[in-house]
Amino acid sequence: MPDAWREIPPTAGLPLRASDLIPRSGKTLQDAVAAFLGVPAVQLECSGTAALIVALTALMRHSPRRRRVVLPAYTCPLVALAVMHCGLTPVLCDVRRDHFDFSPEMLASLVDDETLAIIPTHLGGRVADVTAVNELARRYQATVIEDAAQALGAQWHDRAAGTAGDLGFFSLAVGKGLTLYEGGVLFARDDAMRRQLREESRRVAPFRPGWEIRRSLQLLGYTAFYRPSALRYVYGRPLRRALAQHDLTGAVGDDFPGPIPLHTLGGWRRSVGVNALKRLPGFIAMTTDQAKQRKTIIESIEGVTVIGDPDGSRGTWPFFMVLMPGREARDAALGRLWTAGLGVSRLFIHAIPDYPSFAAQFAGADVPNARDFAARMLTITNSPWLGEDDFQRILATLGEAVTS
Ligand SMILES: *Cc1c(COP(=O)(O)O)cnc(C)c1O
Repeated sequence: MPDAWREIPPTAGLPLRASDLIPRSGKTLQDAVAAFLGVPAVQLECSGTAALIVALTALMRHSPRRRRVVLPAYTCPLVALAVMHCGLTPVLCDVRRDHFDFSPEMLASLVDDETLAIIPTHLGGRVADVTAVNELARRYQATVIEDAAQALGAQWHDRAAGTAGDLGFFSLAVGKGLTLYEGGVLFARDDAMRRQLREESRRVAPFRPGWEIRRSLQLLGYTAFYRPSALRYVYGRPLRRALAQHDLTGAVGDDFPGPIPLHTLGGWRRSVGVNALKRLPGFIAMTTDQAKQRKTIIESIEGVTVIGDPDGSRGTWPFFMVLMPGREARDAALGRLWTAGLGVSRLFIHAIPDYPSFAAQFAGADVPNARDFAARMLTITNSPWLGEDDFQRILATLGEAVTS
């Protein structure tokens, strides 16, 4: 049995240290992240969503007649919200069977001369196929915006995931690896585009001291409470309350009420990011080692698969995306594990059309693979805090759920 006073987080976030909170002279965060990614420059935004909004706004200025943005039908609801925030039309592309990446056939049928952008999406550190999307986009002069919100540090062939398309963005939100509680990184391959994005950002995301104070306090809270003994209270308790009320989207934080905050990312939080980023490569190496061993063990359970990476790429491992043979087995496993404090959870609860707030926008959407993926997938944390006994207990429960 796990210690009742511990709660393992559902993703392996990089813990912050008190010493990270003290600014040091040296590189700026944008230069440090650019060096980490191996690109000339990036710009910082207050969230991944804000980075996407800045990108889309700049693209609209260029191509005002292109109104359609293609995204996967299983992704973060904030992506669809960002597209709608810009007054653009989100177009859902179903995923491949048993995967989160675009169905290539459906994607080819959706992209046309009115497509402004296509958003291939790397989920849970796993990398999506960007090459095929790049080729298709070029044919119609659409722009590829990689959503690497969950993939900072992942590698797509010889490049960092998120830097293989025309534009790309990363999230520094809580739960996504390196975090400033909220934050975003925006990349553009083209020099002129980078200048436009900087200008657009000044228009779209002004300095708002109220937001910066709030986020700074939240970041202090993260630093203090991101440990198993404290997560019981700040993560576990609200989770159990939401599940007791059958509020699944509340349980995973899929609800995004109100307008999308748009503001700058302040200097103190940037300095925290510079300090923490130094430990990210080592943290990724350690969690990758653990993941390689545990992935094979999870997959030894009959009927259970773990999403991996395409040849030539190397993702990061914040958690495992585990596909169960059916919805019943998935729900049976989660019924016992979701509230057990072991870091077993779900990613996005629904395929995009099945969120009540999107029902009108996507009425009649035909995305069976995305729905099946949402119904059969659960996540197992790859946090270093998940000990061997706890991991064995998860395996035993999965095994029982599959055979019962
Ligand atoms: C979290 C997330 C976003 C949005 O990033 P924020 O920093 O939370 O605004 C976009 N896409 C995906 C796939 C995400 O997981």
